[in-house]
Amino acid sequence: MEWIERTEPATTARCRYCAYEASFPHWKSFIFEGRTFSVFRCPSCASLIYVPQEILSRVPETQTPEEIANRRIGDKYYLEAGYSTDHIALAVLAALAGVPPAERERHLFVDIGSGLGLSSYMARHQFGLTTITVEPSPTAALGQELLGLDVHRAYIEDLPEPVLQRLAAQPSVMHLNSVIEHLLEPAEVIRSLMARSHIEAIATVVPDGGAMDADAALGAMLPYLAPGDHLHLPTEIGMRLFFRDLGFPIFALRRMGLLLIAVGARQRADLASEAEIETTRTRFLHGLMAHRNPWLAGGAAGRLLPHAVLNRDEASLVELRRYFAGTLPREAMTAALQQGVGWDSIPFHLGPTAFWLAIDAYARGQHQEGHAWCDLVELFTDRLARDYPIYASQTLHLRGEARVHRANDLAAIGEWEVARHWLRLVIDSAGDRVLGASADQVARAEALLGRLTAPAGSLRRVRRVLLEWWRRARTGH
Ligand SMILES: [Zn+2]
Repeated sequence: MEWIERTEPATTARCRYCAYEASFPHWKSFIFEGRTFSVFRCPSCASLIYVPQEILSRVPETQTPEEIANRRIGDKYYLEAGYSTDHIALAVLAALAGVPPAERERHLFVDIGSGLGLSSYMARHQFGLTTITVEPSPTAALGQELLGLDVHRAYIEDLPEPVLQRLAAQPSVMHLNSVIEHLLEPAEVIRSLMARSHIEAIATVVPDGGAMDADAALGAMLPYLAPGDHLHLPTEIGMRLFFRDLGFPIFALRRMGLLLIAVGARQRADLASEAEIETTRTRFLHGLMAHRNPWLAGGAAGRLLPHAVLNRDEASLVELRRYFAGTLPREAMTAALQQGVGWDSIPFHLGPTAFWLAIDAYARGQHQEGHAWCDLVELFTDRLARDYPIYASQTLHLRGEARVHRANDLAAIGEWEVARHWLRLVIDSAGDRVLGASADQVARAEALLGRLTAPAGSLRRVRRVLLEWWRRARTGH
């Protein structure tokens, strides 16, 4: 898994967003799972396009036991740490924004490529809409089982007749999360659907082709590039032209990290404010925390925690501390990681959750508790980066944060030598583009290290302290 440092000749291609057809310059190539992928940039709208256009990862009808096990782990990761409630809330609110509030209930919420169906679940339970949920992959069955949705197993190019009949009979808003970039001819597919229905607005969630950074670690970009699965990645201009050509006079866009939430509508569409997203997200997650499925409930608690910590929301923190004391006892989880138990017993949100519980402990002046949670972050990150590097980028980022926070806390109580150890780990990791700290973390570590002067004779003591720490971390005593 690495970028290739070489430029290929320009190639003839057609942009799926602005329809420009010409010679496209090479942007970047990389190797993933033994294959080379090459990406070219549209000279008109700067969207990225894979050449050749290949889908390698369609889910086959029958699967081997190993594939089923991998899918189960993938579902577990998605529920525990993979999805962003803010994206879900913003995209659902964006689809709803396409029609005036008084008319919403007349409209169908059509969720195609729904994945598990969390957006449909939100639209139905939180906003009272009638939903149509369509998902081709076996995740559809999980959504049906966990969320009680009626999910049609189909691709957007080939919707079943009952869905098309309902679309023809009632106006709709369409929600396409991670769909457009998978289609060989997205404009053609949507145009033929529009010819048979009354679509008032389409809200899309797509990777931002303009934000792909070839100077960043490939691992951090890979979930967005999704080689063999995505065919092209639009830019803001690309999406604007795409919706204009489909006949939508209104365009609205919001960036969320490396994703674009882009809306084409017939009437004025105002995207949700931060406050609306926050209220929607918090209500949704509190509801999910009570779900009988532990992946879904634990994942919801893990997503609520950072907001509770950052907002110093003591009422939520009391509830969440109690929840995690029951479901993620720190010493038992530490022992489980040291013993190498399977991922069935380790929640994927454990690393981020341990990080936020450390920040919470430090904020309460509980230094030892904070360090113990940071130790758990270290153990968890090593394990995740080894077993599932593709899921590890958020946790790797938080490990860098944990080290800087721990050093700050240690420095504040005069434990300068140990503080310096954690800062050096951050600084020394800078050369590692996969496992290393970010440039910002390194800069903060260097600034703090510069302020800590070495008291005489400290070196021997720091070694002793660290050896002891490592011994305990490894043996669990
Ligand atoms: Zn283009």
